[in-house]
Parts: sequence; C-alpha cells; structure tokens
Amino acid sequence: MFSEERDDSLFNWTMLGNVMEGRPNLGLTTDVSVYRLMQFTLRDVMIKKFGVEVADGVFYEAGKTAGAHFYENVITRRGEFHEFIADVQEALKNLKIGILRVEKANLEEMTFTVAVAEDLDCSGLPVCDEEICTYDEGFLAGLLGAHTGREFHVKEVDCWCSGDRVCRFEIRPSS
Ligand SMILES: [Zn+2]
Repeated sequence: MFSEERDDSLFNWTMLGNVMEGRPNLGLTTDVSVYRLMQFTLRDVMIKKFGVEVADGVFYEAGKTAGAHFYENVITRRGEFHEFIADVQEALKNLKIGILRVEKANLEEMTFTVAVAEDLDCSGLPVCDEEICTYDEGFLAGLLGAHTGREFHVKEVDCWCSGDRVCRFEIRPSS
C-alpha cells in the first residue's frame, strides 16, 4: 500500500476500506477539525521540508488524483454536462464537502467559474490574505478532466481566507 516506491500513482478506491465494518460504533463521519488537523500539519511539514511551491504542487496533484477517482467511484450521471454537475453538487453536499454552484459556464470554450460555500478545507479559518484551497483546485481539475477527457487548469480566485464568504474557482482548459 505505502511501502512500495512508485513512479505512477498506485492509489485506488479500495484503499479507503470498508469503514462501517471497521467502525461499527463510531461510523462513517468525524469532526471537520480532525480532517483539517491532518491536512494542515501535513502541509506544514511539506512546506518546511520542500518549500511552498513543491508542497502546493503535491497538494494540487493529490487533489487531482482524488477528483479523478471520485468521478469513477462516486459520480454516476456521466452524460449531459448539466446532469454531471447536478450529480457533483449532490455528492459534495451529501458528503458535506461543500455547496457547489456554477456561476459561469461556457461549454464551447470549456471555461467555468464555480463557487463553493461552506468549504470543508477553509470555511471559518482566520483571514490571512491567501487563497489556500490548492487541494480543491486539483480536485476540480481531476473531476472535470475525468468527465471530459481534457486537461484543465484551476485557480482559486476568492477564498474564505482571503476574506470572501465562498471559495471561487476559475477553470479553463490547459494550453
Ligand atoms: Zn478556499
């Protein structure tokens, strides 16, 4: 699982295990602060050891891997674009990841602006003048990439941390 060296991703969904079998009393959910504790300490150590740019790159790529696997394992409506988006909205809400809204969509150019309210990663954090949701950027790139077969560039332009009430992402195909 994690002891093998690798050049390509070996992640697969079964690594997440059968949570209900393993946690019959505690169940599927945990506290948001526990998720953030894991993510932010990991990010802190990566920055200390490798610098901000490498750490950001790792988070983006991990998010992208997650987005692609999320598409394969969670998203079921994979036809029309609006059906796909409705499924994503429902899944993100049901899993309490965030409340997604598409603000702009240009299906010819495949450019989008999406907002996520109550985002799992950042909503409620102290304002720090940064857009911090690098993992989410990658996640959206992976999700859209899996649906369309194209590569996307995703940049967060507003974040709870930069003083906004929602996280807002600009999405365009990679050139
Ligand atoms: Zn954010």
